[in-house]
Amino acid sequence: MPAWRSISLWMDQLGEDLTPRPSLEHDLDVDVVIIGAGYTGLWTAYYLKRHAPGLSIAIVEAQTAGFGASGRNGGWLMGNLLGEDRLLAGLSVEQRRQSFDLLHGIPDEVKNVIDREGIDCDYRKGGGLYCAARYPEQEASLRRYLASLYSEGLNESDYRWLSPAELAEQIRVAKPYGGIFTPHIATLHPAKLVRGLARAVERMGVQIYEQSPVTEWHAGFARTAVAQVRSRWVVPAVEGYANTLAPLGRYQLPVQSLIVATEPLSQVTWNEIGLSQGQAFSESSRQVTYGQRTADNRLVFGARGGYQFGGRLRENFDLSSDEIELRRYLFSELFPQLKNVEISHAWGGNLGMSRRFQPHMLCDHQQGIALAGGYGGEGVGASHLGGRTLADLILQRDTLEVRQPWVLTAGGLGALKAWEPEPCRWLGYNAIIRSFVYEDKTLANPHSPPWRRQFASRMAGFMEGFMH
Ligand SMILES: Cc1cc2nc3c(=O)[nH]c(=O)nc-3n(C[C@H](O)[C@H](O)[C@H](O)COP(=O)(O)OP(=O)(O)OC[C@H]3O[C@@H](n4cnc5c(N)ncnc54)[C@H](O)[C@@H]3O)c2cc1C
Repeated sequence: MPAWRSISLWMDQLGEDLTPRPSLEHDLDVDVVIIGAGYTGLWTAYYLKRHAPGLSIAIVEAQTAGFGASGRNGGWLMGNLLGEDRLLAGLSVEQRRQSFDLLHGIPDEVKNVIDREGIDCDYRKGGGLYCAARYPEQEASLRRYLASLYSEGLNESDYRWLSPAELAEQIRVAKPYGGIFTPHIATLHPAKLVRGLARAVERMGVQIYEQSPVTEWHAGFARTAVAQVRSRWVVPAVEGYANTLAPLGRYQLPVQSLIVATEPLSQVTWNEIGLSQGQAFSESSRQVTYGQRTADNRLVFGARGGYQFGGRLRENFDLSSDEIELRRYLFSELFPQLKNVEISHAWGGNLGMSRRFQPHMLCDHQQGIALAGGYGGEGVGASHLGGRTLADLILQRDTLEVRQPWVLTAGGLGALKAWEPEPCRWLGYNAIIRSFVYEDKTLANPHSPPWRRQFASRMAGFMEGFMH
């Protein structure tokens, strides 16, 4: 049996034997074929079956359900979308509030489904903490972020400033400068969710074929090396693996995020740290960090990884000692008592970044193609909305979901912006990331003179501007 258990802490912890489902051996005719058994594919199947139980649906998966980012992520279930400020900018105040309510409702909607389907995935809605916790500039940048959220129409019930003392009621970090609390985030066990969802859709009559990589797809069909599925609808749901399904690689770049987990920590240590409600937390630097206290009392902590020339997928996620030590350095800046803690698991995964740095949910009725992606590391909640929205679009349901600015119904794949060819992407990505790393090193060094600190931040801010 393939070594799927070593994919992540989460897959390792599953109380099931990971026996592969049958692979696709014969040609099929179905109403909908979905390529990829991650959250996007499974949520799409789930909501299609809820609304139209008679549809025949096949999911064709290259490896096993949860092999991709859905079985590897940090378990932040967020009620928002990457780039939502830009996406919602053109809407009226009332429309914007409706969109925010839709997004903020994602964790509760997921909770409804897992309760209904009996999926135990350690869901806890403890909210999220964005902490200024390593250098003083983080306070100023978080305060600017909060002001921008308020200017979009959000208020204290959505995002609230925490003084150092208020922050310490929830999380005790070595250098507390303040933080932001939002109630619109839950944490969960990613692999229990994706595996539970796969079983739920099977109960509803969806056929899942594993170890069946799709090599070619087009309107009306998807083909593996062995067999072909003919279908009115084709839903590629491969996110960070878009390069495996031409021409999708033009529109979605595989970027890696890398993550570590400690051994379970003692109650004494957790009394020192806090996070008693299962809050998600990050230290707000451009290292894109994310952490959670797991249900079995480990610290799981990740940060941005990299991009490989030509959009090559990273297959080997045995992290190097440098990769592990960078994450250890970042979390022990917050919790010095964890400096020498035992790390039991280290892994990573590929996620999809769209050229506009914002997600899309696209449907072309004429061709029978629907897809969602570009979640950019914030896809646990977004893929739920994506699946729900694609189901409504396919079934032509007139819902709030289909009337959102991230929904594209004209122009087919041409509605997506393509990435620049290589070597531009690789050079651009690395120039931006180098400026972020330089900024972080400069600001984390208390001896950096003020002029250098300002220069580093301005440069990183300028480079970040190219991302939009
Ligand atoms: C390390 C890491 C940490 C993250 N942390 C968070 C977080 O805390 N919160 C958050 O919101 N988001 C996070 N994300 C992002 C989030 O996990 C993803 O956006 C989300 O899981 C995407 O789900 P998906 O179903 O679209 O894609 P995936 O889960 O990647 O599923 C795609 C599936 O398609 C299959 N596939 C690929 N090619 C083919 C093919 N040719 N034929 C058939 N099948 C194919 C793959 O095997 C895979 O199973 C993280 C991502 C990573 C990698």
